[in-house]
Amino acid sequence: MVKESHGAWIGWGGTCEEEFEPFEFDGMNLVPISLGAEEYDKYYEGFSNATLWPLYHDLVVPPQFHRSWWNTYCSTNARFAQAAVDAADFGATIWIHDFHLQLVPEMIRAQRPDVRIGFFNHIPFPAETIFAQLPWRDSILKGLLGADVIGFQLASDVKNFRSAVSRFSEFDGENLPSTVRNYPISIDTTAIHEVAEAGETQGWAQQMREELGDPRTLIVGVDRLDYTKGILHRLRAYEELLEDGVIDSQETTFVQVAVPSREGLESYQDLRDEVEQLVGNINGNFGAMDRAAIHYFHHSYSFESTVALYLAADVLLVTSLRDGMNLVAKEYVAARRRNGVLVLSEFAGAAAELNDALLVNPHDIAGLKTAIRLGVEMSAAEAEKRMTSMADVVQRHDIHRWARTFLADLRPKPPTRESRT
Ligand code: UDP
Repeated sequence: MVKESHGAWIGWGGTCEEEFEPFEFDGMNLVPISLGAEEYDKYYEGFSNATLWPLYHDLVVPPQFHRSWWNTYCSTNARFAQAAVDAADFGATIWIHDFHLQLVPEMIRAQRPDVRIGFFNHIPFPAETIFAQLPWRDSILKGLLGADVIGFQLASDVKNFRSAVSRFSEFDGENLPSTVRNYPISIDTTAIHEVAEAGETQGWAQQMREELGDPRTLIVGVDRLDYTKGILHRLRAYEELLEDGVIDSQETTFVQVAVPSREGLESYQDLRDEVEQLVGNINGNFGAMDRAAIHYFHHSYSFESTVALYLAADVLLVTSLRDGMNLVAKEYVAARRRNGVLVLSEFAGAAAELNDALLVNPHDIAGLKTAIRLGVEMSAAEAEKRMTSMADVVQRHDIHRWARTFLADLRPKPPTRESRT
């Protein structure tokens, strides 16, 4: 998209050490913004990941409010805004992504009335009563309302945003100067199909199952190691199924991939300790010399290996306590197309579209156990019926359609008859 429109991609380069000059890559102009050590601590780990992230995910852990983090969030947003102002031609379209940059729309608007500004929030927008806790709530709303189009994942996020605007800004949430809509994000289904259909990927999937001792049923979880993903809840449910004798670890194997994430933050270190302790306990109690009950990997895998794991998995567990969308769920569906079982949290955005999954409330351990059991025991015909219907939904609503829909709303509207006269 950036390439086709001869645009520039402005973003953090991911390091704090070096300053990079803008450069061209694969036909795109890349404009790296470097973060200083203080910006990394206060803007990225602090305000973005320890204030906004837990606040916007329904307080799964308590958000921290620090005025110095907020000040650095403002100054870093101003640096991104300035880079966009400098890069944008007259009348350009600027598309801003995610909660790290909520002040940028208004900051650009103040300097550049000529450009079209879109903002998309990849994570949930919280209920008004939760958003109310944020000491800088008015400024965040003012920042967002600088955009011509404000996009969220779900209709419920739009509703929450409108309520917050009505209560904490000068505007009436139902009658805004910006277009506010839900645009559920998706995946590149064609790319997934290509990888899933490649003989090499299928060979890896086969090899994975063999290396795991050819279990009759393979259950898989693939998540960033984040407290929003409900990994502990699913492990507890699984432990009880083993205890109850409903699942036999000689026949069923569980693979949990936990991608390292935000390791500088204490809440993430604590989660890692808890998850690893629980996995250790379960293996101690239910594993055998020749077969672990749970295989746990604290690594990140390539796209191709992740797809191979989807192909190997009879049942995929997505048990998020709160999740903007959850692309893993959609990727599993696109990779499988006709078979495999998806257990999906009703608190993941993907549940709004994938209602043929086994939907669960991850806080309800009894319900989660029932869903895992149903998944393991589901007949091939039932699994095919559900998966085919979900694959159809994902195929029709892919990432290209998401981008086209958002950008169509962002395109300047032709003048109306009244404005011409
Ligand atoms: N993923 C990956 N390697 C891994 C595990 C996951 O590349 O080892 C990818 C996965 O394919 C998906 C993304 O990471 O595209 C996770 O997106 P999701 O929306 O599920 O969760 P997020 O991490 O953004 O909260």
